[in-house]
Amino acid sequence: MASPPAVRVLQVCAEIFPLLKTGGLADVAGALPAALALAGAEPRVLLPGFAPILAGLSNARTVATLPARGQVPAARLLLGDLAACGVQAYVVDAPALYQREGGPYADAQQRPFADNHLRFARLCWAAADLAQGADPAWRPGLVHAHDWHAGLTPACLQAVGAHVPSVYTVHNLAYQGSFSAAQFHQLGLPELYFQPDGLEFHGTLNFMKAGLHYAQRITTVSPSYACEIQHPEQGMGMDGLLRARAEVLSGILNGVDEAVWHPAMDVLIPANYDAKKLAGKARCKAALQQQLGLTEDATAPLFTVVSRLTEQKGLHLVLAALPQLVARGAQFALLGSGDAAMQDAFRAVAVACPQAISVRIGYDEPFAHQLIAGADVIMVPSHFEPCGLTQLYGLAYGTVPLVRRVGGLADTVTDCSLEALDEGRATGVVFDDFSAAGLDAGIRRALALYRRRSEWKAVQRTAMAQRHDWAEAAQQYLAVYRQALAH
Ligand code: ADP
Repeated sequence: MASPPAVRVLQVCAEIFPLLKTGGLADVAGALPAALALAGAEPRVLLPGFAPILAGLSNARTVATLPARGQVPAARLLLGDLAACGVQAYVVDAPALYQREGGPYADAQQRPFADNHLRFARLCWAAADLAQGADPAWRPGLVHAHDWHAGLTPACLQAVGAHVPSVYTVHNLAYQGSFSAAQFHQLGLPELYFQPDGLEFHGTLNFMKAGLHYAQRITTVSPSYACEIQHPEQGMGMDGLLRARAEVLSGILNGVDEAVWHPAMDVLIPANYDAKKLAGKARCKAALQQQLGLTEDATAPLFTVVSRLTEQKGLHLVLAALPQLVARGAQFALLGSGDAAMQDAFRAVAVACPQAISVRIGYDEPFAHQLIAGADVIMVPSHFEPCGLTQLYGLAYGTVPLVRRVGGLADTVTDCSLEALDEGRATGVVFDDFSAAGLDAGIRRALALYRRRSEWKAVQRTAMAQRHDWAEAAQQYLAVYRQALAH
């Protein structure tokens, strides 16, 4: 029997690793297409024409001129190869919208661009135009939209009468793309979409709500987060809608892109290693201590954080824990950027204690690899965490994760309870209480485990044996696509 034709999936997203990344979304967008292709689908991506994306696009040609909608301006639609990501990409070329100083969403002073609703509606309308045949040579059979930037896509598909189902993935419910009612009227969508049973949220326009309301299937990036967001505490106002749509909501864990994050092959770290031979990891730690000016002591447990500096990540708990951590003979190295007050607070503790604390404010991909390879423990004490990637990188690198029991952290790290140690299942340290005392208790347990060398090594090896690969995630996405297509 002939196998069914490969499903043509259009992935709509605002960033993609390695060209443009502000967080985990880019890692997913960069890895998922190749995994879907290996699993038998035919993926392409649709991206805004930010400068780094256009620079990474080869063999580009214009496939369509996209019409204006309301105050959303017309644009050229390019098709080319994103060789760095191994995928063909449609890029919305609209320099007035996308080519600006600053980041993809905000200016250099971190102020969101005033016309973000138009900039990302432009992306979503392009998906609808593609579904309607804007490129006669390739029409998607399914559209998969990611996060608030692509949230309007399912609404736009419905508005143009496209018979193409959509899947919407929430990477972080905290960022919803919220605008005023007046801004809704600029988008070119029919008035009837602006109602509570649509994309209106208490009188405002909400891009994420459009995705949650109009998509045939909803996914988020871990099973625990899929449950948590159905409750008021983590639902960010969307829990009622998510409960109503619980039957079409599921959680699929992100994977680790082993071409990028693998300690045996990583070209960004000073020595390679694997679970059988951890000597290279000790060399990574020694190099890191030397480079950062920390006391060069192989026996001092080295804790790290690689993170955006935001409320969500619970880093004020780390700040509170640092004096005790250092007093107990441990070291700490942070790489991160974000909240200005938090940046200053971390800088200040490093200045006060340079032999044990190192802080680098900024975004630095190679240094992130060096920290994760060289540290003993990676801390992720988040208040909420949809999936979390750095703890997965920690597992892969034998860098024991110390995490709060929430979201994807709870789904991916097994606490070193006595029974889990005994049964060879423990992969890290998990604490419950989102408080300085809760994290401090976790740190003490991590230190106690570190001193028990044979158990520590066993936990490292169990961690490194975990597989969070994209092949598994791609199979789960394909199953969700099949459900959406059957809808
Ligand atoms: P989020 O998407 O909420 O920021 P994730 O853990 O899902 O959190 O993904 C964060 C990604 O960004 C990881 O790949 C992490 O290594 C990377 N990252 C975060 N901060 C930095 C930084 N300052 N420099 C380099 N990489 C960073």
